Amino acid sequence: MQQRASTDHLKAFAEKCRRKKLRVTPQRTEIFKILLKLQTHPSAEGVYRVVKTRFPNISFDTVNRTLLTFAEIGLIDVVEGYGDPRRFDLNLEHHHHFYCMNCRKITDLFCEAFDQLAVPKDIKERFTVTNKRVVLRGFCDNCGSNRVGDNSKQS
Ligand SMILES: [Zn+2]
Ligand SMILES: [Zn+2]
Repeated sequence: MQQRASTDHLKAFAEKCRRKKLRVTPQRTEIFKILLKLQTHPSAEGVYRVVKTRFPNISFDTVNRTLLTFAEIGLIDVVEGYGDPRRFDLNLEHHHHFYCMNCRKITDLFCEAFDQLAVPKDIKERFTVTNKRVVLRGFCDNCGSNRVGDNSKQS
């Protein structure tokens, strides 16, 4: 199933590039594949580290520019880095995020209750809201257990 989904994604990728007149180079395909594989909303640096193992001569700048181009043509989303460098999100469906303050992993959340959160009237009057995303922060499964009773009481 996973495999199939990836093939579909790659097909959609190639098609979108063609439509936007972006050449499908081996480097670009590899970068897209890495995004498919890393489901952690990687930063450009994170993608660069992986792509370098296959294309040792690729520069960080190329990777960064490629990611921004992907975002420009609507292949991926740029999400908040929460104080870190910007992060990239392959999932274009409406969803929410859980951000781990320790390992910085961003996990996708699908939650109907969050989808249905109403924007208060005074906010609607001040801003044109085009998108709503709930961001939860805390510690993920891996990091949380190390922290219980740790320094959470000190402040
Ligand atoms: Zn974590
Ligand atoms: Zn996401």
